[in-house]
Formats: sequence, C-alpha cells, structure tokens
Amino acid sequence: MADCIFCKIANGEIPTNLIYEDENVVAFNDLNPQAPVHFLVIPKKHYASLNDIDSKEAFGYIFSAIPKITAKLEIKEYRTVVNTGASAGQTVFHIHVHVMAGRDFGWPAG
Ligand code: AMP
Ligand code: ZN
Repeated sequence: MADCIFCKIANGEIPTNLIYEDENVVAFNDLNPQAPVHFLVIPKKHYASLNDIDSKEAFGYIFSAIPKITAKLEIKEYRTVVNTGASAGQTVFHIHVHVMAGRDFGWPAG
C-alpha cells in the first residue's frame, strides 16, 4: 500500500536490517525499543489492523514465525502485543506483533 512505512520495509523500499524473513512475513527491531529485545513481526501483505485479517492462514503465518525467531535468539519468555486502533496505542496502521523480552513485564499492561 502506498505511503505505508511497513509495506516499504517489507518490500525493501526502506532498507532495514531484517532479523527474519520468509515468504509471508518479515521481522525487524523496533526503532524505539521498550525492552532489551523488542522486534516487530509483520505480514508482507498489507492489513491495516487485526480487524482486517481475513483468514486463519494470515493469522497463522504471522504468529508461527514468532517461535522460530525466539528460538534463534534463544529467548524462552517474552511478551507479545498487538495494538488495534488508536485508543489501544496503534500508531502504524499495518498490522504488527510486538515481541519484547529481556526484562520483567507488569500486568495489566498500561
Ligand atoms: P504501535 O504503536 O503498536 O502501532 O507500534 C508501532 C511501532 O513501530 C512503534 O513501537 C515504533 O517504535 C515502531 N516503528 C515505527 N517506525 C519504525 C521503523 N521505521 N522501523 C522500526 N520500527 C518502527
Ligand atoms: Zn502496509
């Protein structure tokens, strides 16, 4: 999608150090990390938010990439977050899963 920063990262228009890539997904470190490890997993296909996910497959390939990446990073415990909508904290409207590790996390999330 034109003018979507995460589409540009996914298609290589914005050069980014990818920590993972497969046919459907890329992952890269968050620009403004909230934990010692903080990366984002995004589908290559543009979906504005979780509300637009239209198939079990899309949901599956996004989430099934996570344990592959954490295994590679030797991380066993981590927080995953999907912000959906501005009031929930979503600022980039291309769905992404935050994966954070390396510190303790409180609950409920703020
Ligand atoms: P959210 O607030 O859930 O929409 O998360 C968007 C996240 O994207 C924030 O944590 C930002 O720090 C991160 N972010 C925005 N632009 C970039 C970028 N160019 N590269 C890496 N992370 C980014
Ligand atoms: Zn996009």
